[in-house]
Amino acid sequence: MDNQLIYEKFDWDGLKENALKGKIAKVLEFIPEDVNSILDVGCGNGVITNILAQHFDVTAVDRSQQALSHVNAKKIQASADEIPLKSEQFDMVFSSEMLEHMEEQVLKGSVNEFKRLSKKYIFITVPNEENPDKLSIQCPKCKFIYNRPNHLRSFNVNSLVKLFPEYKLVKTTSFGMKVRYYNSKILKLKRNLTPSTAWVPYYWISKTDRKTICPHCEHEFIYDYRFHPIAFFLDVLNVTISPKKPYWLFILMEKK
Ligand SMILES: [Zn+2]
Repeated sequence: MDNQLIYEKFDWDGLKENALKGKIAKVLEFIPEDVNSILDVGCGNGVITNILAQHFDVTAVDRSQQALSHVNAKKIQASADEIPLKSEQFDMVFSSEMLEHMEEQVLKGSVNEFKRLSKKYIFITVPNEENPDKLSIQCPKCKFIYNRPNHLRSFNVNSLVKLFPEYKLVKTTSFGMKVRYYNSKILKLKRNLTPSTAWVPYYWISKTDRKTICPHCEHEFIYDYRFHPIAFFLDVLNVTISPKKPYWLFILMEKK
């Protein structure tokens, strides 16, 4: 199964505005005053888009028909790296929690589309310098190891700005629930010394939320958490050395 199908299978009915209330308010605050038209790329089920559309002239893009069915704005079904619209049409291109899911080629193509379609601003939100390996799980069937929310990469301000050399940074902020980073060396030890059922210590997550689909072999399963003394020790060690950081990173750039 490829990413596309996993994306289609996402529970688009389940993601509600309430879960992102704080973030949406922050997004609205962050948008410059001279913005009227917005292109929202990777809008998902429109949980942010539908609010933006109350204040701005919004066009939404997503590759999932299922997700777009919830969106109350002008909408186009397209992949972010190939958007069938004329260049420089929008005051601001906005993208929330999308780039971290992309493979290299798609990322490059999407970044180019952002630059092409924006008249002035690009506003991106991503997880704040997370360690995607922290949420690694292993498919019991084919042994493939992947990140549970399908995050393939991680960004900080510098790595984001570097993708857009034609743009200058206007402002940036980190925001949201504080989440602990996982030290990559300790994580490596944990992977080597303990069974995969002890990797993700989120024992408070309900069984239904632990359902996942292996992107490699399509096997659908509920990942386990089982206590393991070495894993526990390494988790505690990590707590003592790794800082907590706000979960989201916002960055606003302007064309030079
Ligand atoms: Zn598998």
